[in-house]
Amino acid sequence: LTQKDQYYILILGLDNAGKTTYLEQTQTRFNKNYKPTNLARITATVGLNIGKIDVGKMTFNFWDLGGQEELQLLWDKYYAECHAVVYMIDSAETSRLQESLESFNKMICNEHLNGVPLLVIANKQDLEESVHIPDIKTVFNTSAQKIGQRDCSVMAASALKGDGIDEGIEWLVKCVA
Ligand code: GDP
Repeated sequence: LTQKDQYYILILGLDNAGKTTYLEQTQTRFNKNYKPTNLARITATVGLNIGKIDVGKMTFNFWDLGGQEELQLLWDKYYAECHAVVYMIDSAETSRLQESLESFNKMICNEHLNGVPLLVIANKQDLEESVHIPDIKTVFNTSAQKIGQRDCSVMAASALKGDGIDEGIEWLVKCVA
């Protein structure tokens, strides 16, 4: 048995963005014997969702903290210990993009997250009404200055279909290594 290097990765974003689905899909793809829950039956996260995958010599431990406003107070404790953040956006819910941006701004201003690599996932790209990457970037670029000195990437994905998952993990591996 070899000792794996343990990394802690936060999955943040509004409720219903697809965080639970992303975590399920990621574990399904990376863990050989993983028994997935029926993805279509996942409902909005309440409380803490955890998961773990092995990638090469690394173990990624994911924390999905749930998006509900009243739970955001709990986030700080986890911020201090994480190696990377995955921020999930529901690209199809245009009426909540502004709300998501506000939540994003709050997150990147947190001092515990200074310099922590940030992967922004524009999720639900399988839906016709979804906002595409250039427009997502335009909206979230208003925060560019606050993002500061850290690795940051915006990627398209469909957590439901499994598109864009591997690319994101690959990016995270490079950043935390
Ligand atoms: P969470 O609250 O952020 O954990 O979001 P969930 O993972 O529970 O997903 C909320 C809803 O969005 C569920 O009905 C999911 O099936 C759906 N969903 C998640 N990801 C996708 C996606 O990539 N495409 C589509 N069409 N639906 C998605």
